Amino acid sequence: MIDKKLLELRRISRKHGKYVMNKLFDDYLAGPISKKVILSCTFCGAESNITKEHILPKWVFESNSKHSFKSDVNELDQPYIKATIPLCGKCNSDLFNSVEREVQKILREVDLKRRYYSPEEWELIIRWLEIIDFKFQVWDISTKFKAHKKAGYLAALADISIAFMRNASIRKVTSKARSSLKRISVKDKSQKHKCLIVGKTKIKTFHYFHTSGEFIYLEVPTYNKGFFYFYEREFKNDSATKREAMKIIKFAYNL
Ligand SMILES: [Zn+2]
Repeated sequence: MIDKKLLELRRISRKHGKYVMNKLFDDYLAGPISKKVILSCTFCGAESNITKEHILPKWVFESNSKHSFKSDVNELDQPYIKATIPLCGKCNSDLFNSVEREVQKILREVDLKRRYYSPEEWELIIRWLEIIDFKFQVWDISTKFKAHKKAGYLAALADISIAFMRNASIRKVTSKARSSLKRISVKDKSQKHKCLIVGKTKIKTFHYFHTSGEFIYLEVPTYNKGFFYFYEREFKNDSATKREAMKIIKFAYNL
């Protein structure tokens, strides 16, 4: 069942990816985001039945409206509950949610004391984390800078895309976003097995940090699991991956 959904996910990203990306760039990177944008699905391009898809699933941050992340560009708090991207009803509930539900099932049902994840389960977690990166990049591109926490409202920058403000290069933003979508369209994830670490966590609140196209760190107390995944880098063995992940975690939390 999930294989069919994954096939459809890859098919859509290959068939509509170019159109969807170009529209996204035209709408949000070609000058200030103030012109009238025809809202469309950021995965298949459909213009009807548009829904809001959370970048991080609500079960990850426990639907808590107080959980937020700080955008590195303007230092404003962005509640996860409001961080959404437009997706059509079909892509949202039929595809993205199917992957999420399957991942939840794996996290809930696999008892690590008795057995480890199968290669298929492992790859599904990878795919799920790749989808989060894609959603985050779409959000980053389509969200306005608005204001800076310390400098306040800056009229000339308020309507500029956050992604553009960060990279100051349209080329960099677009090529990162295209690579992110391309990952979703690739079937074979066997080369990526060593790039993922899944561990048990006793932490009671959820943790998340992420650098687009580079890595993601996610701790989900609901299932007592933590994830670290490198989107691009490759490693010789698991301990090399772990070492690098720990370095990044220590740096992020000033340990
Ligand atoms: Zn769609």
